[in-house]
Amino acid sequence: MNREGSLKAFARAKQLIPGGVNSPARAFGAVGGQPIFFESALGPWLTDIDGNRYIDYIGSWGPMILGHSHPRVVKAIQETAAKGTSFGAPTELESQMAELIMAMVPSMERVRMVNSGTEATMSALRLARGHTGRDKIIKFAGCYHGHVDSLLVQAGSSATTLGVPNSPGVPRGSTQDTVLLEFNDCQGLQDAFMNFPQKIAAVILEPIAGNMGLVLPGKEFLRLARELTSQHGSVLIFDEVMTGFRLAQGGAQEILGVTPDLTALGKIVGGGLPVGAYGGRKEIMEKVMPAGPVFQAGTLSGNPLAMAAGIATLSELRENPPYAKLEQLAQTLTQGLKELATAAGIPHSLNRVGSMWTLFFTPQPVTDYRTAKTCDTRQFSQFFWAMMDRGVYLPCSQFEAAFNSIAHDEGIVQKTLAAAEGAFAQMGK
Ligand SMILES: *Cc1c(COP(=O)(O)O)cnc(C)c1O
Repeated sequence: MNREGSLKAFARAKQLIPGGVNSPARAFGAVGGQPIFFESALGPWLTDIDGNRYIDYIGSWGPMILGHSHPRVVKAIQETAAKGTSFGAPTELESQMAELIMAMVPSMERVRMVNSGTEATMSALRLARGHTGRDKIIKFAGCYHGHVDSLLVQAGSSATTLGVPNSPGVPRGSTQDTVLLEFNDCQGLQDAFMNFPQKIAAVILEPIAGNMGLVLPGKEFLRLARELTSQHGSVLIFDEVMTGFRLAQGGAQEILGVTPDLTALGKIVGGGLPVGAYGGRKEIMEKVMPAGPVFQAGTLSGNPLAMAAGIATLSELRENPPYAKLEQLAQTLTQGLKELATAAGIPHSLNRVGSMWTLFFTPQPVTDYRTAKTCDTRQFSQFFWAMMDRGVYLPCSQFEAAFNSIAHDEGIVQKTLAAAEGAFAQMGK
């Protein structure tokens, strides 16, 4: 596969942008190579600047659940852009967006729009602290909540693969109130509430973790998180930036049957534009300025283009729920991958929920950050490049989740499995 154009483009970008990219996850650092530069995308397909086509399982790291360039989303953006791109003043689109979010995620009784997932979690944390008058927060190893200072502790995602769990530039003071626990560690959670009575403002977690690869919560773990936060007057924050609208209309909280106090959204909520949102119990949300005293603001928050793309995406998901089909396809794909890996004698374990999955190159079940770290990342890199060479674009790190969209179909899955058979055979050599 000729990738001359991408190589040149990356060399140029590196002279201009730190590391040549505007977000480290896309730099291919974890798989030892150079990123591909893209020209266009349609449905499940990406086309790079050399004209190569790839089946896309990243979906812009989650947002593109309708596939790329979905006509309804493109039309909404075009029509809205023609009327002006930003006013810095309220529009009715924002209320329409809020209504949709609240209808789909009933625990969100009030909602505030922001511009990224990071802003959503950062703002939810500040609100939880403002609401409780407490400082300490509990986070879990391998959960990624954006690049918020106080949450950059064993943060998963690209922070994992780059081996910089604690970034330089994060003052010690910013993380001194962060209590770090292992995901699924019920005893640790109980102990933390014992050790810091009346001190814990919030527990924040990805209810289904996607940033150490896909890791599912134990039933007891989430139930306990809900029970302890309620008992101790702490705020339970679900970071559903990745799982929101991905696993069900109501996100992970709908399928798990556990209701948080606050929810952070991002990715799908913006339909491919830079958007985040946070919301939850009215009593807490009414403390956000100007309704209340907790400051949070954004010049471009709720801007019309972003709202139009988000509204079009959420409306499509609501009117034509694709979740059964998405899951069935992911099931076929992952079942096939497991069988092929087994036949090729490659130790693996695969986690999947709905249309999110990770193939881990370890024979152990992966249930937390520690077990995720047992993966053979060298083997993952081999698999990743072997798939790239066969036109399949997977997340470029072992510690990420892959996604399919409604544009992926049986034919695409069969092409992917044929590629995987070749890739596994190559790895065995
Ligand atoms: C992607 C992600 C974020 C950060 O969102 P950005 O828009 O990249 O700032 C936060 N939490 C989770 C769970 C994510 O997957």
